[in-house]
Amino acid sequence: DRTTPGAITLKNVVLSFGGVRAIDGLDLAIEPGQVHGLIGPNGSGKTTTLNVICGFYRPEAGSVTLGTKPLAVGAPHTRAAEGIARTFQTPRLIGEASVLQNVMVGGAIRGQGSFVESLLSLPRHRRDEAMLRHDAMLALNIVGLGGLAEVRADRLQHSELRFLEIARALMLRPRFLLLDEPAAGLSVEEIRCLGLLIRAISRQGTGVLLVEHHADLIFDICDHVTVLNLGRELAAGTPAEIRVHSEVVSAYLGS
Ligand code: ADP
Repeated sequence: DRTTPGAITLKNVVLSFGGVRAIDGLDLAIEPGQVHGLIGPNGSGKTTTLNVICGFYRPEAGSVTLGTKPLAVGAPHTRAAEGIARTFQTPRLIGEASVLQNVMVGGAIRGQGSFVESLLSLPRHRRDEAMLRHDAMLALNIVGLGGLAEVRADRLQHSELRFLEIARALMLRPRFLLLDEPAAGLSVEEIRCLGLLIRAISRQGTGVLLVEHHADLIFDICDHVTVLNLGRELAAGTPAEIRVHSEVVSAYLGS
């Protein structure tokens, strides 16, 4: 067992929808400071796996642990308290609010209370707000959106929204960051920037789960790759090992 202390570990996880096994006995470990890529054809269970780790779904068998502690099923802010942040395939943002305000919401979640509460409640002290604003600017600068802080979020381009989502997730100072197809709809140059950003985040010690169709990005930046097929591990290893794995090449990468 090569599991590192402090990792998120899935052991023999099973989850069905209407009798169909979306995840069928999956083992997976996301380690601090590492980028773990999760690839596989449509319907192979990638997003469901991410949702299990997020606590949206309770597995019907198997375990999900952080270190030695079981991760309970619960609302997103419960996971936030554990230091687990995520982004969605479709960015979920408040269009009428500014880019900066959208990022500040991510920090408000870091405390207690729900997403909605954090939107409605005014900060107790101006100093809290000033700190939140400062952290949010920092997060925006990290993802390269510092210049757009005061723009309304619904004026941003698709690619900018994807980076904004990551900035908001960073406000949790996550120990783990789960990214659901962050490269979807991005240009080659934007994907290159995304890759650099994800590597920079992992170098700070954050464990990253990267669910992604974009094979080049996976092979460029991951420390470890798991290939799913029909809810099971088809292969796992370093990008170099996966690239030449015969079953992966024939079943997934083609030719
Ligand atoms: P991927 O992300 O690899 O495309 P998913 O995790 O979305 O795969 O889906 C895995 C399987 O589970 C698919 O067969 C899908 O149809 C099914 N599935 C996923 N979510 C649900 C749901 N909420 N209800 C019913 N079936 C679902």
